[in-house]
Amino acid sequence: MNPKNPINPTNPINPMNDKVPGLYIHIPFCLSKCHYCDFYSLTSISAIADFLDALSKEMEIYVGRFNSLDTVYIGGGTPSLLGPREVENILAGVRENFHLTSDPEITIETNPADLSRSFLASIRGSGINRINVGVQSFDENVLGFLGRRHSVNQAFSAVEASRKAGFANVGLDLIYGTPGQDIDSWLNNLRKAVVLSPEHISCYQLTFEPRTPLGRRYQAGELIVPGEELQHQFFMKTSEFLEDAGYIHYEVSNFARKEEYASRHNQKYWDHSPFLGLGPSAHSFLGNQRWWNYRSLDRYLTSINAGNLPVEETETLTLEQLRLEAFYLGLRTKKGISLQGFKNQYHYDLLTEKEKILGRLEEEGFIFIEDGCLHPTRTGLAIADSLSSI
Ligand code: SF4
Repeated sequence: MNPKNPINPTNPINPMNDKVPGLYIHIPFCLSKCHYCDFYSLTSISAIADFLDALSKEMEIYVGRFNSLDTVYIGGGTPSLLGPREVENILAGVRENFHLTSDPEITIETNPADLSRSFLASIRGSGINRINVGVQSFDENVLGFLGRRHSVNQAFSAVEASRKAGFANVGLDLIYGTPGQDIDSWLNNLRKAVVLSPEHISCYQLTFEPRTPLGRRYQAGELIVPGEELQHQFFMKTSEFLEDAGYIHYEVSNFARKEEYASRHNQKYWDHSPFLGLGPSAHSFLGNQRWWNYRSLDRYLTSINAGNLPVEETETLTLEQLRLEAFYLGLRTKKGISLQGFKNQYHYDLLTEKEKILGRLEEEGFIFIEDGCLHPTRTGLAIADSLSSI
């Protein structure tokens, strides 16, 4: 093992390395910090040039390790803060250092406030073929409460402008469960979303992370948040509404207008495909190893500029850990878990080992078994995290 590089991507126990890897790039800048957000980003953008320089060096360090990629996801942070030429250069670096398959999915996360026609036309021209717009809410009051720096009108214009720039795969991110929100006002959000006919919709329940302003207000008892019963109703109504509108509820928080629009990149996180994460705080996975970069731009830059990988920690997973993760992740997806595939990969026969509990969950309507696969029902998806602890 190279002492400068703690990653040894050999694969002694996980036989899934034939899956095609994906690439995630974390752009660690935002113009302002949303009140609920715990992702790593800085509100000063003065170090963008240094970061981009380090990013291209980080790509070079990985040459030959993740050869063939079929997804690239530029996330953050706020990638739409970059100039079109900077986005183009990132993709040129990706193409130079890695091999992309013939039809890669290349996604960028964006803030509606940033999407001018010229920016959209340029990034579409650079090869980005999937755009995710962080709408979060179609209610101005909720946007204010969340600390978003865009308006509802900007969200509508952003989607329209994305279409005009030639994006045929547009995703919207929405948040539900804000204090005081009821089911009707949330369904109004969904109505506005489907009018825009996005190919993909992600609906996340608002969480109160301890390190965020909303987390601190929650801990101080200042916020009245939806109880468990209401949260369950939000989930079920979201699923019913979007499925009635023609969307496939393919993962706990994700909906696609057709199967082909399900996020190919995110699928890699759910089925143990390899992925490489570049940039501060980015995580990677290969074989039975997971590693993550420093959650600090300074430490990231110092490491890279000294010729080292900016890796904070590496974790080697046992077969049992991989099996538990695969079970947990599989139950979060409509596709579910192939029983034979699971047996082959983890040497564990779910039907025999968990016969009683699976039988009970099936009777109670949380799961069903069809064509050799264990699938969660809608009610099962609603409690996917608890299901996986059986
Ligand atoms: S724009 Fe995104 S990454 Fe930046 S602070 Fe808001 S939620 Fe977090």
